[in-house]
Amino acid sequence: MGASSSKLEKVLGDQFPEGERYFGLENFGNTCYCNSVLQALYFCVPFREQLLEYCGQKKPVAESEENLLTCLSELFTQINSQKKKTGVIAPKRFVQRVRKQNELFRSYMHQDAHEFLNFLLNELVDILVKEAQAANSNSGSHTSPEKVVGNGATNGLANGNHKEPVVTWVHKIFQGTLTNETRCLRCETITARDETFLDLSLDIEQNSSITSCLRNFSSTETLNAEDKFFCDKCCSLQEAQKRMKIKSPPRILALHLKRFKYIEQLGRYKKLSYRVVFPLELKLCNTTDDAPGSEAEYSLFAVVVHVGSGPNHGHYVSLVKSHNHWLFFDDENVEIIDESIVQTFFGSTQEYSNNTDHGYILFYESLDQKK
Ligand SMILES: [Zn+2]
Repeated sequence: MGASSSKLEKVLGDQFPEGERYFGLENFGNTCYCNSVLQALYFCVPFREQLLEYCGQKKPVAESEENLLTCLSELFTQINSQKKKTGVIAPKRFVQRVRKQNELFRSYMHQDAHEFLNFLLNELVDILVKEAQAANSNSGSHTSPEKVVGNGATNGLANGNHKEPVVTWVHKIFQGTLTNETRCLRCETITARDETFLDLSLDIEQNSSITSCLRNFSSTETLNAEDKFFCDKCCSLQEAQKRMKIKSPPRILALHLKRFKYIEQLGRYKKLSYRVVFPLELKLCNTTDDAPGSEAEYSLFAVVVHVGSGPNHGHYVSLVKSHNHWLFFDDENVEIIDESIVQTFFGSTQEYSNNTDHGYILFYESLDQKK
């Protein structure tokens, strides 16, 4: 521990960012899927700030009241309040909590980092929603938490008596809205249906880029034959064209590259090592014209990397940008890397390559929505 940590401090010298902590995370037997996601989230500044604030507001939690949110906020606070600038921390309580909560992560087998991210964000949302609802019914006042505005799914019921969804800070950071537009080819009527997301999963192709993956994601699909669309205006099944666009881009855009694909002929999952270029600065091309900031611009700040040739084994590490430095986190180890190294994680143009380290989850921060 000591040697590599002090090396990092030496390399950074006077440039070590004020108040920042670079800590490796101990591995408890194949918990790299968890460590790599935790590092990416720790360096997601708005997310970290909310967790530190949450911990500050809370009274010490009895073990019986412990949940994933309290464990995560305690872990982040523990890292943030270290006297030393670098070192290693054991996220033991958090990992125990994850294992208690979800049997999927209980085994010591290799796990999927994207599944873990998804599970974690959704758990945090559930806990925060329950807390907001409890606080609301306890106080009995009219100061209700913020409501979703302009969500297509709830619009029709806006004046009803149902409970409107609570918008938590997890939503405010990660949630975006997609709109699914279907155009009837007989009457040209466009039906739009909105859905929200906390991250986007993208199909990938060999020798492509994030921009082309996003374009494919939003490409027009024709519904015909068995798959016709029921048009309300025509009152019948009609051929239609469908496309998905981003209506409101999130503050933090988490993109999951679908590198693990089920191959029917093989009867199993296979890892796609395809080269998919992810830029440091990304311009979203598939927003609706009326989306706030339709030219949404983003900057890359973290990459969760899958290392290995297959889906059932391997390792996860992460690349993180902090105060204009790029850092490489591999469980206990933290190193500073040159920005140019990031492109070695794009993937490979050949199926069999010695380089098996591939970008798997990308985290982009919006440049326009810095609130
Ligand atoms: Zn129609």
